[in-house]
Amino acid sequence: MADRQRIVILGGGFAGVNVARHLAKSARNDDEIILLSSSKMHTFTPWLYEIAAARADEHGKQEKRSMAKTSDISLDFLKPRVAIREVKIAGLDLQHEHVLIEDGKTVRYDALVIALGSEMAYFGIPGLQKFALTLKTTSDALAIRRKIAELVADLRRGDKSELKIVIGGAGPSGVELAAEIATMFTGLERRREIAKNIVSITLVDGGERVLGMMTSKISRLAEHRLRVLGVKVILRARINEVKVGEVLIKAPSSSPIAGGEFTVLPSDCTIWTGGVQPAAVLKNFALPKDPRGRILVESTFEVQKQANIFALGDAAMFVDEVTKQPLPQTAQAAENVAPVVAGNVLRALRRTKLEAYKARKQWPYSIAVGGNYALLGYGNLVLSGWLGYVIRRLVDLRYFLNLLPLATAVKFWVRGVLKYRKND
Ligand SMILES: Cc1cc2nc3c(=O)[nH]c(=O)nc-3n(C[C@H](O)[C@H](O)[C@H](O)COP(=O)(O)OP(=O)(O)OC[C@H]3O[C@@H](n4cnc5c(N)ncnc54)[C@H](O)[C@@H]3O)c2cc1C
Repeated sequence: MADRQRIVILGGGFAGVNVARHLAKSARNDDEIILLSSSKMHTFTPWLYEIAAARADEHGKQEKRSMAKTSDISLDFLKPRVAIREVKIAGLDLQHEHVLIEDGKTVRYDALVIALGSEMAYFGIPGLQKFALTLKTTSDALAIRRKIAELVADLRRGDKSELKIVIGGAGPSGVELAAEIATMFTGLERRREIAKNIVSITLVDGGERVLGMMTSKISRLAEHRLRVLGVKVILRARINEVKVGEVLIKAPSSSPIAGGEFTVLPSDCTIWTGGVQPAAVLKNFALPKDPRGRILVESTFEVQKQANIFALGDAAMFVDEVTKQPLPQTAQAAENVAPVVAGNVLRALRRTKLEAYKARKQWPYSIAVGGNYALLGYGNLVLSGWLGYVIRRLVDLRYFLNLLPLATAVKFWVRGVLKYRKND
């Protein structure tokens, strides 16, 4: 090992950024910390639904840039302690302890943190990847916004007489997006710009209820709120194929939707939020993985059977030894795990005993369901409505304050909150 130890972090998402900031505080001055990511921005995904459903009558390059500024945080805040390199990672040479970069270069490491996250999964559904928009990155959110803006312009000009939006996947992203788009159209109707009865928003999911991974109480409240907002919810129905202008779904005969087993939903804008898979590049990493391709880690977040290599976030599979439950794939969990990983990286380099992570039994969660309304849950406790929304926004502010200098954090938060208020 070289005298000056080099810690390399792969990925600038919630996991990578939070490990980097903890290491920046606790590593020795002569330890070198490098973060490699395909983007110099850290995307705050919890706000993407707001961008996607931002008032569709505003557009133009400047507006697009200013919307992106509300979700993307420059990684510069980690400098100079952490060196940031914008590169496309291509693989890993375990034998020589090198990260392989797409341009043929390599980066040596003494300790490695893999935080490469996830990307959309399409499950081989014909036409889905080609014809559906998604909501994973800021560009995705802006693409949805652009598409809706075009369709609204068509309605205004009279080129179209109705607008149909189909969203696949009633997990948190799908629910938040459907509700916010519905709220945006309510606003357009209030301003007498577009009648809402010519707009249909349909949320399709194969499960028994929306937000299937949460408590049934949260699901009930969310579904009720969606229906109040005018979103049509179709459950126990799977998307079978997506074509230009239509979505073919398969529903059991007991389903209330007409047309028998297969139903064609006309769609001017199809959006897929129905699942993620580990980042594609992980296929090139010869590390132990679960059947879905996530890297298997020990209770210390060290990759199984590998010294000095750690993985966390959406790219990793951690199962709690006591509860036998996997850690959720959320920003919240990645942030919670990050200090343990940072500490263990330093322990590994100093050859001291690693610390096991103790997972929470329960995670609080919040789902925004249109406008200033959110469901906040912890176990069986649920808080709904405006207060839930305010607390959610304060939790967002806490995140920015952890990351950024006070003034920058507050500015970032205020900019987003003011911008998104226009949606409602
Ligand atoms: C729309 C949406 C809303 C969400 N809302 C919430 C929420 O409210 N609360 C919550 O807790 N969670 C939320 N999540 C989940 C949360 O965003 C993820 O769990 C979290 O981003 C995982 O963090 P990560 O660092 O593991 O991965 P990511 O955030 O995906 O980061 C991965 C990083 O790796 C980089 N990368 C990937 N491949 C390469 C490569 N080949 N070369 C170089 N760099 C690469 C990427 O550029 C990125 O910087 C939401 C997710 C989405 C999509």
